[in-house]
Amino acid sequence: MPTLRREPITGRWVINPDETDDRPSSLIEMEKMIQKGVCPFCEGNEKYTPPEIFALRDKGSKKDSPGWEVRVVPNLSPALRVELDLNRRAERMYDLMNAVGAHEVIIETPKHISNLADLDVSQIKKVIQTHKQRIADLKKDKRLRSIFVFKNYGERAGSSPIKHAHSQLIGVSVTPKNLKEELKGAKEYYDYKERCVFCDMIKQELSTEKRVICSNPDFLAIAPFASRFSYEVWILPRKHSVDFENLSDEACQNLAFLLKEILLRLKILLDDPPYNFILHSGPNRIKRRGEVWKTLNEDYHWHIEIMPRYMRIDGFEWGTGLYINATTPEQAAASLRKVKI
Ligand SMILES: [Zn+2]
Ligand SMILES: [Zn+2]
Ligand SMILES: [Zn+2]
Repeated sequence: MPTLRREPITGRWVINPDETDDRPSSLIEMEKMIQKGVCPFCEGNEKYTPPEIFALRDKGSKKDSPGWEVRVVPNLSPALRVELDLNRRAERMYDLMNAVGAHEVIIETPKHISNLADLDVSQIKKVIQTHKQRIADLKKDKRLRSIFVFKNYGERAGSSPIKHAHSQLIGVSVTPKNLKEELKGAKEYYDYKERCVFCDMIKQELSTEKRVICSNPDFLAIAPFASRFSYEVWILPRKHSVDFENLSDEACQNLAFLLKEILLRLKILLDDPPYNFILHSGPNRIKRRGEVWKTLNEDYHWHIEIMPRYMRIDGFEWGTGLYINATTPEQAAASLRKVKI
């Protein structure tokens, strides 16, 4: 069975595959189909994906048939399995557990369009509402400690060969290192200042505007002060909020609008670059950890990080976690603001 192994020095978790599983034949078939020009994510081809978990559909249309607007299916080669028991255990000094979790694919449109930037705002809103619904649903499973929505667009960003707009969702039983570092940093700032570090960041960025790219009544898009990547963008809700799934309907609309605007600005300025985005949101609250995470509702603030992969990450970044950025965030924000859309 697939396992989660903890690296004992840094505490980094790694998902390992099922040893007895050969490469699933369904995946090979999928690749053959794509080579023949059949897209499994297009409306009418529902039979080529595993049965749907959720869909926004026309009234009267049937599951796994046409008539949907956004469709969620299990990943064909899931890294994690929802049906396993955690079975935390040790192999002498090493800790491991079964890789329990969810791995889903969100098909963002029934039409064969590859970039989310090219969908209408109303369609992007439906995608965001679907992300909300899936996170809220999976949070009911207390084994799943953190849930991430992410996107790989373009081959350099690690996208699958399917050129049809889709995002993915992974829910895991651990708190991965990057999120843990953010949670810890936000808590330490709060312990010291009794204010949310993200709220303070928003206030400061709005006061100088050097790194602000665009904004609306609910959201702000900035080039963060210590961007790791050229043209890295963060989208933050202006009002303090820990959990993405609590987004109101009106805020969903404003997020869709801002997300489209940012993705279009990046597309025009950088000639349709590959990119990743990740949603960082409040983890599942676990009762017995209540003491440690007491201020979580006040100290953490959900956000989206968008990283154009227009430069490669090299050995130095890999080996050190120290990034070399080729464009200052002030230059990036100025160029992105100037783009005519
Ligand atoms: Zn398609
Ligand atoms: Zn805040
Ligand atoms: Zn983050």
